[in-house]
Amino acid sequence: MNSSISGANSGTTQTLMGGGGTEAARRGGVSAAAFIGAAEAPLGTITGFPAAFELSSLTGSQITPEESARIARAERFELQAVARSILPGHRIRGCLLYRQHGAATVQVRRSRASGLAYYAGLQTCGRGAICPLCGAKIAEHNRGEIQTALDVWRGRAGVPALITFTLPHYRSQRLVHNVKALLSAYSDLTRNRPYRRLCEVAGLQHYIRSIEVTWGRRNGFHPHLHVLGFFGSGFGAVGLPERLPLLWLAELYRQGVEIANPDDVLERGIRFQLGFSAGAEYLSKVSRAWGLAEEVAKANRKKARGDHFSPMQLLAHVRDATLPEAADVYREYAEASHGLHFLQWSRGMRAALGLTEEKSDEEIAAGVDQHDVVLASLTPEEWRAVRAGGWQARVRLVELADFDEDAAIAYVAHLVEHFRQVSDVVR
Ligand SMILES: [Zn+2]
Repeated sequence: MNSSISGANSGTTQTLMGGGGTEAARRGGVSAAAFIGAAEAPLGTITGFPAAFELSSLTGSQITPEESARIARAERFELQAVARSILPGHRIRGCLLYRQHGAATVQVRRSRASGLAYYAGLQTCGRGAICPLCGAKIAEHNRGEIQTALDVWRGRAGVPALITFTLPHYRSQRLVHNVKALLSAYSDLTRNRPYRRLCEVAGLQHYIRSIEVTWGRRNGFHPHLHVLGFFGSGFGAVGLPERLPLLWLAELYRQGVEIANPDDVLERGIRFQLGFSAGAEYLSKVSRAWGLAEEVAKANRKKARGDHFSPMQLLAHVRDATLPEAADVYREYAEASHGLHFLQWSRGMRAALGLTEEKSDEEIAAGVDQHDVVLASLTPEEWRAVRAGGWQARVRLVELADFDEDAAIAYVAHLVEHFRQVSDVVR
């Protein structure tokens, strides 16, 4: 049977301590590229540049980060509508569409952080793994916190390492089983005495663990774990990277995981990268899932590239009808990801690094910075008219508000008028 443990490369690749190493080492070596695939590529190499390049060649100028963020925001509204259409009855159905209970108005605000307009006073689903709009907001929040943690760690002369755990996966496997096997193997490994001893010797003090899921036509779902380890300044490089692949293989055997080729697991089951460049790569992984600004997700409009698709890319393929299985795959992903903790901080880590208490995904998705300026307050009637215009109207309204709130208000008046006329005709 064909198996693949794509997404990780040789077990012991290391970059220089804190120094970043070579570009090839940072990406996990030349051989890794073949296993990584489009969805796994470091930020900007595959998904990012083509769209930016095309757009900039159209306009004859370099696309600005703000414009790129605007494009990504529009795409998230569009893909959320796609997700809603293939997940009827899911919590996503009311997300950023219906007013929050008790909210008298829907506000258009301008974010101090990004400079872009957004909606407040609407319901949010908080399902970061499923919803492009909540997902991007949660990813942005997490990225900020992880960056802070890395900055603190740098100040303490510590060193981070990114360890990716992956297991053989087959096209016939259901994601719900796959992901369970992966989490159970990892959790049992962390209780295993030789592993704990290695971590202790290496100076592991804290870690953040996250789940990433991609899908490929050849080998189906590929869930993998990224563990960002925070090691003390005297990192004992000898031991952990070298022995981890074997410990992982042993753990997979203990779990009864089907292993067609143990050498494959030893070579690619674990990917170990040391240094702040690895920390930066982890941040890009957190951001990538939902196409934050610099990703310019428009690249997805192209034909299916490579054989690894992120959830966001799957939605883009549903929209473009470029991958017949995409909708079913997305539905399975949505079902299997229910209740999973996509990001977990090790116990005591946040307090030790001076971070505030952890917020739930729902809180992050619903959060509004009270210092952000209110550009417009829409009455329920006005919002109904905007809503009737579909995702396109919701995007156009924030895009107008980005530049000129008066134009945004005039646009709302136009929508209300249009909505009245249409309602009259229906009546
Ligand atoms: Zn949502």
